[in-house]
Amino acid sequence: MALPPDRLEAAHRALVERFGPDRVLTDFRDRMAYAYDATGIKYPPDVVVFPLSTEDAADAVRIAAHHGLPIVARGGGTNISGGTVPIRGGLCLALNRMDRILDIDPENHTATVQPGVRNLALQEALKPHGFFFAPDPSSHRVSTIGGNAGENAGGPHCLKYGVTVNHVLGLTLVLADGSVVRLGGPEQDRPGFDLVSLLVGSEGTLGIITELVVRILPLPAEVRTLLAVFDDLEVAMRTVSDIIAARVVPATMELLDRGTIEVVERFARAGYPEDAEAVLLIEVDGPQESVAEELDRVEAICRRNGARDLRIAQSEAEREALWLGRRAAYGAAGRLSAYVWTQDVTVPRDRLVEMLRACQAIGRKYGIRIISVAHAGDGNLHPLVAYDPQDADQVRRVKAADREILEACVALGGSISGEHGIGHDKLPNLELQLGPDLLGLMWSVRRAFDPDLRLNPGKAVAAPSRNV
Ligand SMILES: Cc1cc2nc3c(=O)[nH]c(=O)nc-3n(C[C@H](O)[C@H](O)[C@H](O)COP(=O)(O)OP(=O)(O)OC[C@H]3O[C@@H](n4cnc5c(N)ncnc54)[C@H](O)[C@@H]3O)c2cc1C
Repeated sequence: MALPPDRLEAAHRALVERFGPDRVLTDFRDRMAYAYDATGIKYPPDVVVFPLSTEDAADAVRIAAHHGLPIVARGGGTNISGGTVPIRGGLCLALNRMDRILDIDPENHTATVQPGVRNLALQEALKPHGFFFAPDPSSHRVSTIGGNAGENAGGPHCLKYGVTVNHVLGLTLVLADGSVVRLGGPEQDRPGFDLVSLLVGSEGTLGIITELVVRILPLPAEVRTLLAVFDDLEVAMRTVSDIIAARVVPATMELLDRGTIEVVERFARAGYPEDAEAVLLIEVDGPQESVAEELDRVEAICRRNGARDLRIAQSEAEREALWLGRRAAYGAAGRLSAYVWTQDVTVPRDRLVEMLRACQAIGRKYGIRIISVAHAGDGNLHPLVAYDPQDADQVRRVKAADREILEACVALGGSISGEHGIGHDKLPNLELQLGPDLLGLMWSVRRAFDPDLRLNPGKAVAAPSRNV
């Protein structure tokens, strides 16, 4: 519900008084720049504030609460679930200027960062120390560590190393009333509930993260990257299971199908063979001896399964070139149309082929072309469809296909959100996976943190009645 103009005016005045005009945006055109995420849904916030510290964020939250404004935390705005879209207006807390790396502690394998540090900036800062941060979403150039925590982001390397929740040790959090708490920390085994894990993936609904202590890992001594080219998509997918079954856990196993390869080659020229039905991008890392042995085993399995070509990067430049295609996949798909519907489903790895077949059948049923890219090792599939939002019939067919894909995923024992969160987009589908009891429990947790439902309303978790 829109705030009456006089109350909004009063909130603007209080924010400008506290932060100065340079750190508060009220002009409509300025606010529109904070109206979107990667889904294409757009709602402008009523006001945007740029905090630089925990104290700033706490004051902004207090002022917003006093004037009855909803509060949406925003990092890089790259989420694909409507997570940062201020669907009920209110205050956008743009955390991207809180971008300082406060500490790198190689002795304790931790780093302390503000939430607006970009993922790639942290990786680059860690490299000279011989460390890396394992979560590496393909949006790593733009997405922030705060946003990675907000969505519990995954990424190619999460197959071996785990997702963001496995790498966040401590958080400083501004609660809905503006009070500040510190959760967890570098030391292990704190008493009480593990609220850090609860917060990671909570999509800005339980508090605003203003500082994170994250686990950092030593860079592996050796990394080898291989592109395996297949003439059969299902065989490529089965190869993923065969590799894991052979007790090799590569750092990454990414899959691109023919449609994605075509798009990537058209717009990014990564050098993938355009007539292939699928490519697998596999990386093994670790001590030199074990990497050599694992690479041999991976190669042997790919050959046995009929891979028609295997390219092993011989230099860092060649490795980067192989990765270019995978990292460019979403961006390239985005060149097909201003609107790309991206689904994010995860199934047990051995059911990935069935999930893929279901997507293809659903695509045929609704007459839409679905291309797929997958963190295949995790069983995480991203069907993509470029569509025209002005074409009502196309939109209807895409929506119907979307729902059926989620139903198929649940039927296969999967999760309707692999790594992109629920946000606004998937909220109506949450009931497919969570029954009323679980939804009710999650709703109680949300209300315990935020009784007035001010933090990112209409996202992530709905009341069992969905009367949010
Ligand atoms: C091209 C492309 C590739 C992608 N690849 C991947 C991938 O490989 N793996 C993956 O998991 N995702 C991927 N994504 C999705 C997205 O990039 C990730 O979810 C990412 O973690 C979001 O980070 P962000 O900084 O952009 O967060 P935002 O989009 O700004 O925010 C995400 C959510 O977190 C909340 N939030 C942000 N900051 C805070 C904070 N400080 N405190 C509390 N809540 C906060 C927001 O309110 C929102 O709900 C991709 C997206 C694109 C566009």
